This record gives sequence, structure tokens and C-alpha cells, in this order.
Amino acid sequence: MNIWYTKSKEEVLNQLQTSSKGLPDAEVDKRLEQYGPNRLAEKRRKSPWKLLFQQFTETMVLILIVAALLSLFLGKTTEAVAILAIVVLFGVLGFFQEYRAERAMAALNRMVVPIVRVSRNGIIKEVSAQDLVPGDVVHLEAGNIVPADLRLLEGFNLKIQEAALTGESEPVEKNIAPLEKAEVGIGDRKNMAYMGTMVTYGRGIGITVATGMETELGKIANLIGAVETTKTPLQEKLDKLGKMLAVVGVAAAALIFGIGLLMGEAASSMFLTAVSIAVAVVPEGLPAVVTITLALGGQRMLQRNALIRKLPAVETLGSVTVICSDKTGTLTQNKMTLTVVELPGLQVQLKPEQTPDLPEQAAAQLNMALSVAVLCNDGTLDRAADNDDEQVLGDPTETALLVAGARQGIYKEDLYAVLPRINELPFDSERKRMSTVHQVNNGADFLNALPDRPYLMCTKGAPDLLLAACDSVWVNGAPVPLDAEWVRNIQEANTNLAQNGIRVLGLAFKQLDNAQVDGNLESELTFMGLVGLIDPPREEVKAAVENCKLAGIKPIMITGDHPLTAAAIGRQLQFGSQADTISGELLHRATDEELLDLAHKTTVYARVSPEDKLRIVSALQQIGHVVAMTGDGVNDSPALRKADIGVAMGITGTDVAKEAADMVLLDDNFTTIVAAVEEGRVIFDNLLRFIKFSLAGNIGKVLVMMVAPFFGLVIALQPLQLLWLNLLTDGLLGLGLGTEPAEEDIMRRPPRNPEKGALDKDDIIRLSLLGIAIAAISLGLALYYYNPANPADHTWQTMLFATIGFAQVFQALALRSSAHSAFNLTTNPLMTGVVISAILLQLAVIYLPFMKSFFNLVPLAATDLLISIAAGSIIFFVIKLIKRFVKK
Ligand code: ATP
Repeated sequence: MNIWYTKSKEEVLNQLQTSSKGLPDAEVDKRLEQYGPNRLAEKRRKSPWKLLFQQFTETMVLILIVAALLSLFLGKTTEAVAILAIVVLFGVLGFFQEYRAERAMAALNRMVVPIVRVSRNGIIKEVSAQDLVPGDVVHLEAGNIVPADLRLLEGFNLKIQEAALTGESEPVEKNIAPLEKAEVGIGDRKNMAYMGTMVTYGRGIGITVATGMETELGKIANLIGAVETTKTPLQEKLDKLGKMLAVVGVAAAALIFGIGLLMGEAASSMFLTAVSIAVAVVPEGLPAVVTITLALGGQRMLQRNALIRKLPAVETLGSVTVICSDKTGTLTQNKMTLTVVELPGLQVQLKPEQTPDLPEQAAAQLNMALSVAVLCNDGTLDRAADNDDEQVLGDPTETALLVAGARQGIYKEDLYAVLPRINELPFDSERKRMSTVHQVNNGADFLNALPDRPYLMCTKGAPDLLLAACDSVWVNGAPVPLDAEWVRNIQEANTNLAQNGIRVLGLAFKQLDNAQVDGNLESELTFMGLVGLIDPPREEVKAAVENCKLAGIKPIMITGDHPLTAAAIGRQLQFGSQADTISGELLHRATDEELLDLAHKTTVYARVSPEDKLRIVSALQQIGHVVAMTGDGVNDSPALRKADIGVAMGITGTDVAKEAADMVLLDDNFTTIVAAVEEGRVIFDNLLRFIKFSLAGNIGKVLVMMVAPFFGLVIALQPLQLLWLNLLTDGLLGLGLGTEPAEEDIMRRPPRNPEKGALDKDDIIRLSLLGIAIAAISLGLALYYYNPANPADHTWQTMLFATIGFAQVFQALALRSSAHSAFNLTTNPLMTGVVISAILLQLAVIYLPFMKSFFNLVPLAATDLLISIAAGSIIFFVIKLIKRFVKK
């Protein structure tokens, strides 16, 4: 085995037959063939057997098994076999649903495979982490999840959190020196970066030494699962409901059994009645339909660019009451353009494709400012490329500066040739600035005005914070002390720009005698000036914000940008007025108590750091909100986890943020969050629709079974007939109801209160009334047909069976989404399909010779059939009446 951490850089490169420029493409293909894709073999959490077994231990299924055994005991073999067949059918169906749901989630999660920056053939490219091969040169930066095992070749303040491997949550500082000893634990191999660990700070370059299952993570991958499929809150409630129904069913069965015996009925027929009641109570199709509805919902969200990472999110989304959104990229286009440079005594408006015509002194001043902006920059610009979009790589704020530099003939690689970058203090959203340290070689003419010193530090960042680190200002080619008046002037210029929604960066520099970097380095800087970038709001967001408000959802902007910039964008997008904006400073001063108060009224939080985000989420939750919160950076993950729905950016988000999120926006767009909320509401509506439908129907069937004996019909419906009805209604019709389109007012009503149970008192009253109506109509008709003088004539039973079936078809139609007429054939083709199938199947069991004898039914005369349908249709009107009179 190779021990990479004891080897020198050259040895590592040699042995892997590569160079710091990276591999040529042909070699990559060859190695990919040889080593396979860089991914971990997926390990299923539950074995299929276990999943299958679980299906059979659900309470409802246990009841059915007992019912089957009882039937067997009573000599009713057909019943016993049929019940067991149903048990197996639903067991297998449930198993496949869960299996598929798990696989679908795994597939979705694979869609968030990290994109990695690698050098290949001397060019930096972005490739999928799966395509990495040993020998690839990988660039790491804060927010990356390390994509493979790497031996580090370069590191700038690189810190990596290795909890995934070592359990240690404190990030480890990395360096590149070879280790002396081979026997050191993973946590001490300072020059290695391991797959699955997280870069929390700094930057680095490493050479891939192991991929896929060969990595340290791969070796322990047996221990990690694929995807956790947690049950949604509603599913958990349903499990409880299932248990409750089971208890009720058993109790009802026992009761009727006892009463029957007392009334002198034969024990064997009472046993059969008891079995039937138990069968009637169990909503066999419920779990499967719920899983299918959730899974289909997740797919619909994906079509609208929201990728669900955790299934419960599908449901929670429906009850979101605030959406906290980043500004840059989510509300704005993240297409930054440098439009203005404001230097002491000089303001230059930059227009695309136009070089400003400036006097020599001013031109030199502009040249120097842009040079600092280009030096202190992590973006890249490909000079050779001519397509505007493809020529830059990196953070749009930075690349905008590179593009502006290039317009003036200032290129990073030219500058780096004479001023190589040898150290840096990376950007973080706490300091809101970054600095780079350059070795001064001969030839950088913009430095002519400065004394000779060996190193130059360039800094750029938020002006308000940067000014505090400066003690002089560069005016007319020389530094002057930064006095109160200068501070005032600069702040005024900053304010003027920010007020117009412009993102402002300050530029500064400092000359150094050595290149050591420490925390105090960013002080006594010379301030150079401001640059203003515009980032237009996304067109479509305004409408989405409007929709949010109509839907009772409060949109909130949380940004690291200047309060005035934030407020200006907030105004344009109608988040709120200036008065609703607060800045990070105020936030820091506020106690937790005061924050609760602020959280009520604030709609724009500016100059916020990631820690503040966590406080904001907590405060909002404390005042009763269900919070969706976006984030993209490493430090955002605690807030993403804390939020009810953590939302990560698919394009600009870091791997770490995506890992922490419940949902990923594939297009980074605020509008997509609103769309997902809408889908969430539709899904929840449909689940409830279906559950109510199913419960009311089952109440009806149980009532029939319980009441009929008092009228002399000891076994009103046989177990087989009940099973059939339940499959037809709970299963087939339920599936149709689960896919209904949105109600018209879906985004015009307030969010659902998640504290409230799924069903309230009114709901229970309504569905009980409905159950009673179904029972009354069908049993009434059956009694009318029942002829005690001729007990062998079972027409009454077929009438009962048929009427319940038709009643539930009409029930399903009446419960369809209010936006569309109950009889519309096109709004939900699946619904149309299941209704037609249900009717045909119902006719088939009554009329097809083979089926009718199996189910012990008699063919109905045409008039009887029509009477049955007409009686069933009464339910349609009953529902409309109940809707009217039992008010929400
Ligand atoms: P959000 O995405 O949360 O709306 P943001 O992207 O504006 O906010 P940050 O990226 O944290 O938030 O930026 C905060 C501030 O830091 C910016 O207003 C800007 O002044 C400064 N800043 C941003 N990017 C850079 C950078 N690359 N170099 C130096 N300073 C930067």
C-alpha cells in the first residue's frame, strides 16, 4: 500500500505519473476505465427482506391475518385464501412502494453530485466528482466536500473538518510538508484531504491518490447508509390512526359478536361477521396511496426545479409561513457588472465596450485601482475565449472586476507574472473582505509611485468595515492620513451608491517587508477607492413575492450586503420599505428578547453574518413561524438545519450547504421556493382529501355491518365482498384523489397550521355524517329488497354491495378539487381513468359469471342497477349539503 503522506510532492507526482498541470484527457479516460467512477457503492440501509417483513407486521395487516385464520377455522377456505392474498398483495405493493421511494430518493440525491475544479492539461475545468481519477489535480476551497482522497500540494490557510472520518468536529489546519512517520492516525495526516470531509476555510490544491471504494471513506462505507427515508409527520399520524382503527375494529367486532350470541345467532356466523367488520375497518390501500402521492409530489417539485432531499419536506413545505431568502443570485440575477469607480477626486462611469477617455493622472489612478481589484481576486478569465459567458469562472463579484480590468487591458496573469501571489487571507462572510499578498518583482508600473518594498498586500471588501482597517487614503498619487473628513466623504459616496441598489466594494493596499500572514495584517491599510457593481433583480421575483403575500407567507431578505443596497433591492421587489430594514449591527446589539420583537416587523436584514441567520431562524420559530431559509455557504449549514425547510442553492451553493438542506433549488431562484410551497400545499390537500374519503367510506361500511344484524341481516356483506370494495375505493379511487390538481385558491389562503392535527372536529363530524349517509342509503335499499320469506334470494346483498360501490364513486367525484367540476374528464386523466375502471370492475363482479360466483353476487336487473346507481348518486348531493352546512 502506498503511504502518500510520507512522500514528497515530486515522489507523489512521479508515482502517479502526472504533473501539477494535471493529466491529459486521453489519460483520464484510460484511468476512468481502469479505476471506475469515483463513487461509493451504495449500501442499502434495510435489506429487501426486512422491508418486506415490515410490511407484514403493520397492525392493520396483523388484523387481516387473524381474520384469515379465523375464516380458515370456520372452514371458509376461499375467504381465508383471498384475505391472505390481499395481505400478500399489499405487502408486496407496500414493499415495492417503499423500495421505490427509497431508490428515488437515492437517485435524487445522486443529482447533487458535487462539481469539482480540476486542472487537466494545464487548464482549470469543472467536472463531476464521479469523473475524478487518481492523478487528477483538484482545487479545493471553503465549502467543498473533499471529492476523493487527496495528497495536498498547496494550501492557503486550509482548514478541513474531518468529523465524517474521525468524529472530531473541530476543523484541522492542513499543510503540505511530508510526514516523517508512517504510523499516524487519519486525523494527524496534515497533508492529506480525505473524501467526505469538508473544507471550512481557505484554499488548497491536492493530487488525487484514491477514488471511490479505495478511499478511506470507501473502506468504511459499509457503515454508512444510502439515504434515510424518514416518515413524514402525516405518515406517522397515519400509523397511529391505523393502530387506533385496528383497536376500534376489533372492539366493534367483539361487540357485535357478543350481541349476536346473546340474540341467539350461531357462533360460526357471528365469527364471520366479526371477521367482516375487521376487514371493513382496515383501509388496506392507505399506506400505499400515501407513499405514492408523496413520491409523485416530489417528482412534480423536481419538474419545477426544486429537488427534495428529505421526503418530510414535501409535506412541511405546505405549511411554510416565512421564506427567508439570500439576496445575491436568489432575488437578483447574480450577473454583476462594474459600472462605477469612485476614487478620491475622481468618479468614472464605466460603460460596456467603451474605454473612458481620461486625463493621464486620472487614468493612472483608475489603472492602479483596477489592478488591485484584479490582483485580489480568485476568479479566472480566459483571454482567448470570445464568448462572454464562457470566458469567466468564479464568483460573479470577482469576475466582474476581472472583466472590467480586461476592458482596460489589465489581465490577472500579466500582473501575477510580476507580482506572484504568495499568501492570502481568504474572504469570509464575517470580515466581509479578502486580502492577497504578492511578491514585488520588477516591472509592475502601477507601483512606480510607491517606495520599494518587497511585498504588496491587496485588500477588497465591504467599505464600511474596510475603512476601519485603514489609516491613510491614496490621493493624487500619494497617501494622506485618513481623517474624519475623508471618512465622512467616503461614507457619503458609499451611501450614494448603495442607495441605488449598487453593491459597493472598497479597495485598499499595504506594503510589507515580509510575507507572513497573521490576523493583524489587515490594519493600517491605505484606502484607494470604491467600485460599484450592479446586479439587477430577477424579473420574475416580483410576482413571486406578491404571490407569497397573498398566500399569507412573509418574504424576508437576509443579505450580507449594505443596508441601503439591500433596502433598494427590497423596495424594487416589494419586500418592504426602508423602515422594515435592519442591519447586522442592530441585530448584534439586540438581546434575544428584543430580537423577537424585531422579527415581527423586519423584512430586510442587511450586513448579516451566517451566525445571525441562526438567531433569526430561532426568533422567527419562537414567534410561531414555519421557516424556509436559503443558504449557500459553509457557515450557513447550522441555519439550514435549524430551519423547518433548509434550502440550498444548486448552482452557486457549496456542497456543505447542499448536504445540510432539505431542498435544493436547481435554478437558485426565489420563484422556485414559492412554486415548491404551492406543490406542498397541493400534496397536503390531496393527502387529506384521500384520507377523509377513505375514512368516511370505511365508517359507512362498518356501520352497515354493525347495524344490519339488528334488522336480521346477520352477515350483511361477506369478507370477500368487503375486501373488494375496499380495494376499489381506498386503493383505486384513492389514487385518483391523491393526484388532483390544485384548488383555485391554493395560494390565496393562509398556510396550514402544522400544530393542528390532520383532522379537526368539523372534519370528524363531516366524515361521520357522510359515513352515516352511506350506511343509511345502502342499508335502507338492501332492507327494501330483503325478503325474509325467501332467505335464499341474495339480491338484497348485491344491491347493498353495488350501492356502496357507486356511492363511493360519487363520493370521490364530489370530493375532487373544487377548482374543477366533478365531472371534468381532462383536468386529472388519472382520476377519469380510475373512475371508469372502478365502474367497469364493479359491473364485472356483478355480471361476469366467473366473478359473480366467486364473490357470491347475483346479476341485477337493469332497473335494479339503475336504482342502485341513483341511490349512490344521492351521496354526491349529501356531500354538497354537508359542505354547506358544517362550516369550517
Ligand atoms: P447574500 O447572498 O446573502 O444576499 P451577499 O452575497 O451579498 O449576500 P456576502 O457574500 O457575505 O453576502 O457578501 C457580503 C459583503 O462582503 C458584500 O456586500 C461585499 O461588500 C463583500 N464581498 C462579497 N464578495 C466579496 C469578495 N469576493 N471579495 C471581497 N469582498 C466581498
